[in-house]
This record gives sequence, structure tokens and C-alpha cells, in this order.
Amino acid sequence: MSAMRYPWPAGKTSAAVLSFDFDAESGFLFREPEKARRSLGDLEERRFGPRVGVDRILRLLDRLKLRASFFIPGWTVEHHFEPCRRIRDAGHEIGAHGNVHEALGFLDEEQEERVMREQLEILSSRLGVRPAGYRSPSWDVNVWTPDLLKRHGFLYDSSLMGNDVPYDVPTSQGPLTEVPVQWLLDDAPLFRHVYGATNAIADPGRVLQMWSKEWEAMHPENGCFVLTCHPFVSGRASRIALLEDLVTAMRRARGVWFATCEEVARWHASGPAPAKGRPAATRPASASGARSRARGPRRR
Ligand SMILES: [Zn+2]
Repeated sequence: MSAMRYPWPAGKTSAAVLSFDFDAESGFLFREPEKARRSLGDLEERRFGPRVGVDRILRLLDRLKLRASFFIPGWTVEHHFEPCRRIRDAGHEIGAHGNVHEALGFLDEEQEERVMREQLEILSSRLGVRPAGYRSPSWDVNVWTPDLLKRHGFLYDSSLMGNDVPYDVPTSQGPLTEVPVQWLLDDAPLFRHVYGATNAIADPGRVLQMWSKEWEAMHPENGCFVLTCHPFVSGRASRIALLEDLVTAMRRARGVWFATCEEVARWHASGPAPAKGRPAATRPASASGARSRARGPRRR
């Protein structure tokens, strides 16, 4: 048995998270406010999420008996409350995802602080949720953002690509756990039709192959496979079928820990013993037995 690059609970080999960014119209309203005042076409494309996609995803997760992580902008909670309530009531994790999907590159520190307060207030007052995690809109993160998240009591961020296992992002108040994402595992660049873009709409069979191959390769690397989908994109019928096929295939292999982002972050923050960089005769018999206070950055 080779060394565990990253130890997972109960001797699991790898972790997998299904995450859904429930943007609805918010990102379009932020990026193209002029167009959003007249283009019913663009608005309706995104309303497919709250109208159809979310419930299709909830039914899928129910069939698969899986809990997922939903990152929801404040605007979506205010304008599509019922599907948000159904996500919460089905027991899924809800994380913060901006207010009107503000890409952080457009905000200075003061604006970012204000937007953070607004989104937390909406999640709390409308849904009764105090999110443990944050995913930045469009995965756009400023250098000061980790400190801001720490100040607001977040356990983790899930917007960065610096590793494919959880890692620590330093802040002035100690490390913030990162549950990393990557473009390869995002449905939008593969499936969205954008005029003038170089990519065509991907065949779900090709995407299943791509995502399966990434997972098959990450699994023996003890990776954390974080899939990011959008209800208005992946709520389409053939793409729901693709997600079901993917999870079914992953379950055929042994040793995958299906978890929410929060569960992964709590595991990481609890300080699983780093088993990195040096050969070990055996992997830890039980991951909980392998816990230690060591929580060094996973520099691989
Ligand atoms: Zn988003």
C-alpha cells in the first residue's frame, strides 16, 4: 500500500462532493444590468433553474440518498424563496454565494464587506441559515477575501483551485479551510450556449467520460472531487441522467466518501494527520485514529 497523500475518515480512499450554485438570474443582473431590463430570453433561460432544475436535482439526490451543498445568492433567496426552502427542508447544506452574485473583482474591500453583511442577513432572516461555507460568485476571489470570511465566522471557502485536496489558506486570524474547485468539474463551460464562445454544447456522454476519467484518476490520489453544477444548466433532463450515471459508476468503486463541502471542511479543520511526502508502510487503520494536532499545509 502506498502512502496516503491525504487521509480520509474511516479509511476511505477519496472524497466526492456534489455542489450546486443556485444563481437563477442574479449573475446576469449583476453583469449585464442594461440587458437584464429587456431580455426576457436571457432571464427565462436562468429561471429554468428555480422553475424546474432545482426540483429535478432534489429528486435525483433523494433517489441517490445523497446530501449535497447548495450555494445560494441572497437575491435568489428573496426572489425564489420556495425552491430555496425546499433545498433547506430536504436537509442539504446551504452556503453563501454573494448577494446579487457580485463577482468580487468588481468590488473594493468596503463594498465586499457590505455585500457580505447583506447576504448573511438574508440567509439568516429568510432561511434561518448561518452558513459554514462560502463560494465566491464566478470563483473570483480578492487577496483580502479570506480574512473577510474568517472575520465573519466562516469555516471554509470553496472557490480556489490551489490543490485537489482540502488545504489551508492563511489569514491574519489563522488558517481558513479551502475545499477546492476546478474548471474541469464545472458544468457551465461545457454545457452553456454562449454566442461567440469557442466551445459547442458538449455531448453528455463526453462529459460523463471526462468527469469519470478525472474521478478515476483522483481516487487513487486520495483527491477531493468537487463537482459544481448550476440548476439552470444541469437541470436539463439528459444532464440529470448524466449525474446519476456518474454517481452510480463512482459507487461501484470502493472507498469513496460522499460528503458535503461542510463535512469535508470539518474533517480537514479537525486536523487529520498529514501523511504526505513520505512513504508509509500502511495507511491509517482508521482515519479518526490518525487525527493529530498537526494541520500543516498540504504542500503537494
Ligand atoms: Zn454562481
